[in-house]
Amino acid sequence: MEAKRIPELFGTMVFNDKVMKERLPSEAYKAVRRAIEGVEPLSHDYAKTVASVMKDWAIEKGATHFTHWFQPMTGITAEKHDSFIEPFGDGDVIMKFSEKSLVKGESDASSFPSGGLRATFEARGYTAWDPTSYAFVKDGSLYIPTAFCSYSGEALDKKTPLLRSMEAFNKQALRILRLFGNDKVKKVTPTVGAEQEYFLIDKSVYEKRIDLVHCGRTLFGARPSKGQELEDHYYGAIKSRVSAFMKELDEELWKLGVYAKTKHNEVAPSQHELAPIFTSTNTSSDQNQITMELMKSVANKHDLVCLLHEKPFASVSGSGKHNNWSISTDLGENLLDPGATPNENAQFLLFLVAVIKAVDEYQDLLRISVASAGNDHRLGATEAPPAIISIYLGEELDGILRAIERGEAYSAKAKSELKIGVSVLPPIPKDSTDRNRTSPFAFTGNKFEFRMVGSSTNIACPNFIINAIVAEELRVFADRLEKATDFNTALNELIKETIREHKRILFSGNNYSKEWEKEAKRRGLLNLKSTVDALPLYAQKKNVEMFARHNILSESEINSRTEILLENYCNIVHIEALTAIDIAKKEIVPSVIGYQSFILKELNRKKEYGGELSSVLEEKLIKKLSDLSEKFALALDKLESDTEKYNSSWGNLYKAKYCKRNLLSDMALVREYADAMELLMGKDFMSMPTYEDILYSVKY
Ligand code: ADP
Ligand code: MG
Repeated sequence: MEAKRIPELFGTMVFNDKVMKERLPSEAYKAVRRAIEGVEPLSHDYAKTVASVMKDWAIEKGATHFTHWFQPMTGITAEKHDSFIEPFGDGDVIMKFSEKSLVKGESDASSFPSGGLRATFEARGYTAWDPTSYAFVKDGSLYIPTAFCSYSGEALDKKTPLLRSMEAFNKQALRILRLFGNDKVKKVTPTVGAEQEYFLIDKSVYEKRIDLVHCGRTLFGARPSKGQELEDHYYGAIKSRVSAFMKELDEELWKLGVYAKTKHNEVAPSQHELAPIFTSTNTSSDQNQITMELMKSVANKHDLVCLLHEKPFASVSGSGKHNNWSISTDLGENLLDPGATPNENAQFLLFLVAVIKAVDEYQDLLRISVASAGNDHRLGATEAPPAIISIYLGEELDGILRAIERGEAYSAKAKSELKIGVSVLPPIPKDSTDRNRTSPFAFTGNKFEFRMVGSSTNIACPNFIINAIVAEELRVFADRLEKATDFNTALNELIKETIREHKRILFSGNNYSKEWEKEAKRRGLLNLKSTVDALPLYAQKKNVEMFARHNILSESEINSRTEILLENYCNIVHIEALTAIDIAKKEIVPSVIGYQSFILKELNRKKEYGGELSSVLEEKLIKKLSDLSEKFALALDKLESDTEKYNSSWGNLYKAKYCKRNLLSDMALVREYADAMELLMGKDFMSMPTYEDILYSVKY
């Protein structure tokens, strides 16, 4: 496509502000804006108008159906398509779309996970239109972003708590701004830009790997002779097949109003990344879901498969999603930007220490927000942040905070110094320090980059948690400062005190090192290594109280989420165990036996020859293989018997612990022997594509 056509193409399939402004009567348009801004809900009459205009627009774009699009706790998005047709007269139809169909949909919630909420409430669930995220047309259907709740209004999805958290955040952030004398800002929105990593492999190798098909990750496979050691893939020239995929993906995303911006190769062979331009946490989450879906469908058109699993290949870098989080006002300011005026700088520091306090007090929730069976393989491995949460601020800010804590003047080393007048606070220089790539929560100039998020995670989860915990700290700050007689003194004292109490969460060193693990322990920081360790902390008293205070989640909603997440974890590990057994028996055993019998035949042939030929090679090989195959057989027996014992009616936490302690460790052992045998095998005897075949499957 020609570059000049891109602005024309951008957002063409989206019922966005521009379309609404053009097509809706002005009163109806204003009413929609008020609904989007959260001032008041849309009235029935205006909703009727919007539905009718939306339908006409969608039909022009080729839609015959509409669907409420929602994000149940399954991890993928859900849709159910209805056509616009309505019987009319005798055997005719007209295209209709009522106000009710736009605003509310009823669906049988009983097949979606509810984590026990269903036991006490009705099976019916309903979807409610979220006017803050634009409707769009895709594959002949009008997609209406919706929240998904139980009949009595309990959240059954990922969007509802996110919307609630944004409301809470806005309320508390406005209180802070008012304290600084700012009464112009009407709305504060947490924003996010999520950099999405993924693997792209050839469809033909994918189809031959049952583990990739069933589990999204390989359960076996020795590492290839050439991995990522040379770092020649990172930012390397993009192969033409990949480039064609990326081009089509960009165009499809642009049509849907997704601001796809940056694309490049990542560290591992066949790993890539796409970064969008940031927007509100809600829109960004929806757009990230669309991005992941399109990555898969566009890849398919190119005979490629897009892997979004956090760790598709052992000993090769996994995929994450860098969640760049910041705070915008409706006047376009970034509240995490050290401003140009003294007042702004003091305000910046207050928001900054609110994040520091939030991250320290809610380490458990942040860890939980990214907890999944897939991400457990990544967190703590050498290329990803460890499971310990800490914040990296950069040398300059670190120095400033230390000076504030001690009440000393800070002399900046940096040349680019910003003037600031609130005399008690030091100047804030523009940060000139390098990035710390190992930090799980790094300040990058005007935003925080949360790096623990897994590549397949719905970012609604980490973001509703970040919004919630920061909103809570802003509330605590506002409560205190609103009562102060001397604002400046109280502010200075508050910032100082917060730094003193929460500086343990700040860390600038190498997060991958063993020393940090020890140091973090000494500081009393949490180290929740797995999903099973993290999830039981979800419903701790402090968390329940915090979520309830801001109307983000009730205790029963938290409990239901814990159950669902644990159950997802168990299902995933159980399916992996079954798949591993299957592959072991159907692929690995026949391959290994085939190769051994080949060697034995060769040995016999040599014996028949009269014993003059050396058979050292064959003997050594067969000995090694036979030793390994014995260990492999025993490990496989244990995996099989442990998998048989697994009982899906056990309680979820017990079951999850069993999965981790037994199934995962059994699988690891089976794999260890299988991979060791693979290294001894002749290529032609292997029935499955190897890591080499998969990771280098896209050649041109
Ligand atoms: P990097 O050097 O980490 O690639 P970039 O500046 O390119 O940093 O930004 C990475 C991501 O951060 C992009 O998705 C971008 O849109 C997002 N981002 C930038 N500013 C903000 C902000 N104020 N709020 C949220 N996300 C942001
Ligand atoms: Mg980045």
